[in-house]
Amino acid sequence: MNARPKKSFGQHFLHEKRYIERIVSAVSPKPDDFVVEIGPGEGALTLPLLAAAGKLTAIELDTDLIPDLTARAASVGELSIIHSDVLKVDFTALAHRHGVERLRIAGNLPYYISSPILFHCVEHAAAIQDMHFMLQKEVVDRMAAEPGSKVYGRLSVMLQLACRVEPLFTVPPGAFRPPPKVDSAVVRLIPLSPEQRHDADPARVHAVVKAAFAQRRKTLSNALRQLMDSDAIKTADVDPKARAETLAPLDFVRLAKVLAGT
Ligand code: SAM
Repeated sequence: MNARPKKSFGQHFLHEKRYIERIVSAVSPKPDDFVVEIGPGEGALTLPLLAAAGKLTAIELDTDLIPDLTARAASVGELSIIHSDVLKVDFTALAHRHGVERLRIAGNLPYYISSPILFHCVEHAAAIQDMHFMLQKEVVDRMAAEPGSKVYGRLSVMLQLACRVEPLFTVPPGAFRPPPKVDSAVVRLIPLSPEQRHDADPARVHAVVKAAFAQRRKTLSNALRQLMDSDAIKTADVDPKARAETLAPLDFVRLAKVLAGT
C-alpha cells in the first residue's frame, strides 16, 4: 500500500473515492460475471470490484505490487493474479480455459500503451461482453469522434467497427497519485454482436484505414494510390476526391472488400 508509483509502468493510482464508486457502479459486476481487471496497481478498483463479483482475475506487470494486493484481497474474495504484460494475455483462450462465454474487462489503463491495449482487446472482441476503461480524455474523444471531426481518425474507425463506444464521465488529474498531466475519462465499450460486425478481412480493413489516415489532408485517390485506383474506389461507392476524415467507418469496409476483389 502506498508504494512509490513507477513512471515506467504508467502508474497513477486512483484515490478519490467518488470516482472509484462511479467506475464500480458503471461496471456493476454481478456474482456470475467473469471480471478481468487490467493493471490493478494498489487495488483501488480491484477490492470494490472483487467485493461485488466475489471473484476477479487481475493482470499486473509490476511484481512489487502483487504480494500486498494478494494479502489485502484475501478477506474480500477470490482474487487470481496473472503476472504478465496484458498484451501477451490471450483473452479468448482465458475465457475458454474458464468455460465462460465472454469476459467483462475493466481497468484504469497505463496510458503509455493505451492504444495497443485497445487494439489487443478489439482482436478478442468476440470473447468480451464489455469493457470499462479509464484513459486520457483526449483518447476517449478520438475513440468516440464522428466523421468530419478534427480528431476523427484511425482509432475512431477501428474502435467503432468493433464496438459501441460510450464515453461516460471525465476525471480530473487531482483524483490520482501522482496526478497525470492530462484530464482522464472513463469509457464503456460494448463489442458488436456477430450480426452487427462487418464481414471484411480485418487485415485489409486495417491496411485501408492506415493508408487513408496516414495522409489525411490528401484525397483518397492519392492516399490509397498504393492499394487501389480511383475506379476501384468508386466501385466501393466512395468518392475518390473525398478525404479519409469524411468517410463513415463502413465506407472503409466497402473499400477493403473491393481491395479483396469480393
Ligand atoms: N488500477 C490502479 C488504480 O486505479 O489506482 C492502477 C492504475 S495505473 C494507471 C496502471 C496499472 O497498470 C499499474 O498498476 C501498472 O503497474 C500496470 N501496468 C503497466 N503496464 C502494464 C502492462 N503492460 N500489463 C499489465 N499491467 C500493466
